[in-house]
Amino acid sequence: MPELPEVEVTRRGIAPHVEGRTVTGIVLRRDGLRWPFPPDLPALLTGQVVRSTARRGKYLLLNFDHGTLLIHLGMSGHLRVLPAGLAAQKHDHVDIEFGAELMRFTDPRRFGAVLWHAQTDGDIEQHLLLRSLGVEPLGCADLAERLYRGTRGRSAAIKQALLAGDIVVGVGNIYACESLFESAIHPATAAGRVSRERYARLAAAIQRVLAAAIAKGGSSLRDFIGADGASGYFQQSYFVYDREGEPCRHCSASVRRIVQGQRSTFYCPRCQR
Ligand SMILES: [Zn+2]
Repeated sequence: MPELPEVEVTRRGIAPHVEGRTVTGIVLRRDGLRWPFPPDLPALLTGQVVRSTARRGKYLLLNFDHGTLLIHLGMSGHLRVLPAGLAAQKHDHVDIEFGAELMRFTDPRRFGAVLWHAQTDGDIEQHLLLRSLGVEPLGCADLAERLYRGTRGRSAAIKQALLAGDIVVGVGNIYACESLFESAIHPATAAGRVSRERYARLAAAIQRVLAAAIAKGGSSLRDFIGADGASGYFQQSYFVYDREGEPCRHCSASVRRIVQGQRSTFYCPRCQR
């Protein structure tokens, strides 16, 4: 599933191909994915210029003068920039055409979304899907303090508090496991009992882990943007994620797996307390 780093790498990959470019056509090959597509999208966007791209959580935003196109990659979606006229395959649902190139949204499992938010409906940050999102972790100077204050009185496990997304966005299952390992915090610790000092270490770990994933993804950008149809999310080497029974890379203890909120959590019983 695309996590924040993949979405950010996708944004950086498409940005030079779409920013400042005029939409010359929109092709919708079905009525919708997770939700219906705006049926008037071709009329709304054809002839309009993409002024900028942005990302909020896992939503990609294409900003126009008269509103914002929101794209969510869902469970299996990806965007590629391809030469105009390239024949669509079975799971290619939306093309946004820019003259000699097009941006194609492919989504085999169809949990993705393409939505329009008109400027006249208010600030995009107040969109129903965005307004309850937590802070963006990258570049947030007071992330540790927000984590600390946001979890006072919460008995939920720290791993669950991270995944909930209401304090901080983008710390999905993989990155929650990895950043808890790096900050030596046991994933089942009650969030409200983690000290300020430990949240400082956790905040730094979250930022480091996400930045490293984005940097790694940057080197595989061709997979996202290549015209050869290659795609796929980058594989990384992890400290604990998906390593049940394997030796901890720090202390050689056996990595354990537990289930929290129906998601697998991986941790080192010796390094994380
Ligand atoms: Zn260990």
